[in-house]
Amino acid sequence: MRLSRWVLFVLALTPSLAWAQDKQSGLLLTGAKVLDPAGQTLLEGYGVLIVGERIAKVAPAAEVTASAEARSFDLSGLTLVPGLIDAHTHLLLYPYDETSWNDQVLKESLELRTVRAVAAAKATLEAGFTTLRDLGTEGAGYADVALRDAIAMGIVPGPRVLASTRALVATGCYGPMGFDPRWDVPKGAQVADGVDGLRKAVRQQIAAGADWIKVYADYRRKPGAPSTPTYSQEELNAIVDEARSADLPVAAHATIDEAIRRSVLAAVTTIEHGSNASEEIFTLMREHEVVLCPTLAAGEAIARYAGWEPGTPDPPRIKRSKEMFARALESGVAIACGSDVGVFAHGDNVRELELMVAYGMSPGQALQAATITAARLLNKQDDLGRIAEGYLADIVAVRGNPLEDPSSLRNVVIVLKDGRIALDRR
Ligand SMILES: [Zn+2]
Repeated sequence: MRLSRWVLFVLALTPSLAWAQDKQSGLLLTGAKVLDPAGQTLLEGYGVLIVGERIAKVAPAAEVTASAEARSFDLSGLTLVPGLIDAHTHLLLYPYDETSWNDQVLKESLELRTVRAVAAAKATLEAGFTTLRDLGTEGAGYADVALRDAIAMGIVPGPRVLASTRALVATGCYGPMGFDPRWDVPKGAQVADGVDGLRKAVRQQIAAGADWIKVYADYRRKPGAPSTPTYSQEELNAIVDEARSADLPVAAHATIDEAIRRSVLAAVTTIEHGSNASEEIFTLMREHEVVLCPTLAAGEAIARYAGWEPGTPDPPRIKRSKEMFARALESGVAIACGSDVGVFAHGDNVRELELMVAYGMSPGQALQAATITAARLLNKQDDLGRIAEGYLADIVAVRGNPLEDPSSLRNVVIVLKDGRIALDRR
């Protein structure tokens, strides 16, 4: 029986794939419920065959045959979901209740920050997040590019990282702030102004290895002040145009309508936060197919650091978050999981999905925000975000049903990334 299955399997393969199969004979996952490719239901009685770094077959178990040399995992009782994606992270930051953002940026060495980021990447991967879009090193230069490459080379464990390096900020529109103007205090991002200056800064970041360009389209001008737009329409247009020349997309930090409007008209790919956005501006985003990363978990963490305890009445910040998310849902704008982790602990990324559900999404929609929708915004919709044939074998096995309870995504048993076992807690 085993021999005949092997013969059939070899016959079914092209010579080159058969040779690849010799090098890695495959991994067959059986017994688990499998999230369907649409991300809507759990398939029972299915097998998932992984050959090399990709998913070779997903079908009723009787139809999935592996080579005699393939390893087979019986995962009865578990649920398989695609490797999760967090589209707004800061691996080079850690929770502000441990060390303030200002002190992390101004006082800690680049070397210490980078070593911390290595540990953060491992914790993230083991939490089932296999892909991150890291949106700025916050003063740690190009350390995200080095970390991305070290992970890709297999030197250290971690998710696949899309790096945006230093991020772009206008003069007088980013921290650390509040110092006497005599002092030239280093900033947590690259200061650049004007069309020429911004084109040059974008080129510098791309040359240093950026996969994305991040721009702060609004910010406060002094501590505690409300956000105002930072860049003109002409400047934002130049950023997006210059990035486009190199085939890079742009993510815009924007919390108020005018900054979001300018960013959308400049054709950015995502809006980060959107905290004070009106339903009309979310509708404009939907019409231009711009995706929202609402970073609910960062807002909650900052409320906690200010003394709020979950379970007690909502402080204004949490109320605003809930109202913003309700407006976003009402508008029909595409929403991706982007948590702003780094503000809170790496490895706790699932908090974003839990809050999306607490604030009005269904668990299935929240899971799609961290898989299908996030993969699409990364332009990796044919490789990531689904358990389907031909996709990269990023798969997480959890206990429980994430279509009913997002917190079940915390019960991670196995993590596969690129077909390799990153974690096995069976
Ligand atoms: Zn952020």
